[in-house]
Order: sequence, then C-alpha cells, then structure tokens
Amino acid sequence: MKKSFYGLNFADLENLLIENKLNPTAAALLYTWHYKKKQTSQCLDNVSKKTIKFLEENIHFDLPVIDTVSEAEDSTVKFLVKLNDGKKVESVLIPFHNKYSICISSQVGCAMNCSFCFTGTQGLKRNLLTEEIVGQFLVAWHWLAKNRPGQERILNIVFMGQGEPLHNFDHVKKACEIFLSSHGTSVGHQKITISTSGYIPGLKRWKDEIPGVNLALSLHSPFEEKRNELIPINKKYPLAEVLEYLDAIPLKKKQFVTYEYLLIAGFNDSDIDAHKTGELIQGKKAYINLIPFNPFPGTKYKRPSYEQVGRFKEILDTYKIPTIIRGTKGDDVLAACGQLNTAT
Ligand code: SAH
Ligand code: SF4
Repeated sequence: MKKSFYGLNFADLENLLIENKLNPTAAALLYTWHYKKKQTSQCLDNVSKKTIKFLEENIHFDLPVIDTVSEAEDSTVKFLVKLNDGKKVESVLIPFHNKYSICISSQVGCAMNCSFCFTGTQGLKRNLLTEEIVGQFLVAWHWLAKNRPGQERILNIVFMGQGEPLHNFDHVKKACEIFLSSHGTSVGHQKITISTSGYIPGLKRWKDEIPGVNLALSLHSPFEEKRNELIPINKKYPLAEVLEYLDAIPLKKKQFVTYEYLLIAGFNDSDIDAHKTGELIQGKKAYINLIPFNPFPGTKYKRPSYEQVGRFKEILDTYKIPTIIRGTKGDDVLAACGQLNTAT
C-alpha cells in the first residue's frame, strides 16, 4: 500500500530515500514543492527519474476533501472535511487582520466526555493520522487561495477542534514536526498551540518531545469537585497533579501557558470562583482566556451575561493576570470552539 507523503516528517522522508538508495537531497526539494509552494502535483523539478519513479510507485499525495463550507458574517469559515474512510471532522479558519488562525481537529470525536462539549457527546471514533491533521491545514490554505486570493496566510495553528490532542500524541507530534520544518511551512514554535483537558500521559511526554510549542490547559474551575463534573478525566488526573506537570515545563522568555476558563452561568462564574482562580494562577507565566459557554442543542448549561463575564475579568485583573475574553467568532455557523460535532 502507498504511504501518504503528508504523514512523513523530514527525517522520515530522508530515511526513506536513503533506504531505497536514492539521493536524500530530494527531501528538501519535495518539502519546498509540497509545503512551501503548496503544489499538489508530482514534483518533477530537479528530481531524478529514479526518485520520480519510486515516488509514483510508493507514495501518494491525496489530501482530505472539503465536504461542506460554511462562511460566517465575520469571515470565519468552517469546513467539514471528509477523510478517506468517509468519516468527517471540522476545521475552522478564524480571521484577524486579513490573516487567519486555523483551529484543527486531532480525533474524530473525543473520549473525554466533557459535560459542556458538543464533540464529547459523540465519543471517540478514531485518532486522526498525521496526514489528516496536516491535510486540514493544506486544504484550508487551498480554499483560501481559490476563494479569497491574496488572503492565503494562515499564521497560527491551534489544536482546539475536535478531540484531545494529547490522547493522540504520536500523530499530533509528527504533524507539529511537519508544520515546524524549515524546509516546509516553517510555522514558528510559538505559533502552534495545543489545548488539553489535562491528559497527564501526554503532559509527561511534553517537555522532551514537543519543546517550545505552546500549551493551553482547559482549566474551567479551580475546584477539583466542579472540575470533576465538567471534565470527567479530572477524577483520574486531578488538577493539582496536572498543574505540577505544567509548572515543570520550561518556558522561553516570552512564552506563557494559556489557561482557558469556560464560563457557565450560575455554575463557575461567581466571585468566589474568580478569586480562587486568581489565587491559583497568580505568579505563573500565564494568560487566562475567558470563554463564554457556547450553547448547543440539548445542553443544560447557559452562557453568562456580558456583565458577569466582565466582572469575572475585573476580579482576575486584581491578581495581575493578563486576561482576554474570547469572542465567539463564527457563532452563526456553529463554528465556535466546542460546537464541533460530526456525528449527525
Ligand atoms: N480537547 C482539548 C482541545 C479541544 S476543545 C481541550 O479540551 O482543551 C477546545 C476548547 O473549547 C477547550 O478549552 C474546551 O473547553 C472549549 N469548549 C468545549 N466546549 C465548549 C463550549 N460548548 N463552549 C465554549 N467552549 C467550549
Ligand atoms: Fe474532548 Fe476537549 Fe471536548 Fe473535553 S472539551 S470532550 S477534551 S474535545
């Protein structure tokens, strides 16, 4: 069976060429062709006939296919991306100043079953392969080049779509290596953010295997009891332990850990919750992202009022923690974070 080109990091590609007695310098040419120039056709420039023949016989360049596109008023674009086996995941392009961040999925569904998450309601169907993670970026780029020419600039990659990225560590790690490669898309370390619900087996591998990439923790409550209710794996991997792993990650000079705090009306949005969060995060190199809950069909939770969100932030400000209230871009097409469900 042919291997996907988009599943090979640079070292894999070089090794493959060497193992097959081909010139490994072709790896740089191929990476430039397919990732920098984003060509999808076979690369014929400066590549030996022997290498071209080998690639034709052993490697495929198929990408996932965009199944549906929903464009929101604010230019956010949601893609339903169809994988080889017919399963679908969602990716979202989020605009800022004519550039984009892409929110990508790491799994079909998710095993973590968080009570506030639309994705969580469908369970884990399967892990995405490296090429399916990288493919989401490439198909979104091609869509922009075709539909919004001149705007095909995706500068940030966030793993905040469907799935728990650290539960699919190997493929997420390899996709990051591909994004980071200077021969290819050359995305900077600090332009990639991986968001986790606190999956400790992944955090254990973090500092040795994905150093320099940004980490975001879905905190949602400083209280273990409440967090147990929101994020069931907190019972197995309690917050106190998660924070020990996070605190041990070496950060570069301008690097921070992002703490995401989902605000749910009447559940975790009180002054007491805000003060306890402030006490917990104070002194860390951290940002807090406040995310007003995005409702979805059938949920029991409600979004707090604008005033309540503002009040929560004001309390955190007194602890001198930089806090951002995340807008709910793409709301009108159900594209905001946590609204991704492809089960139906
Ligand atoms: N599994 C990872 C990453 C994907 S979820 C994680 O949990 O961190 C990305 C972010 O969207 C998380 O912070 C998650 O808590 C948030 N989210 C999930 N459901 C949401 C909802 N209904 N409204 C707002 N944010 C939500
Ligand atoms: Fe999975 Fe994240 Fe949703 Fe929890 S919030 S179910 S970890 S995708």
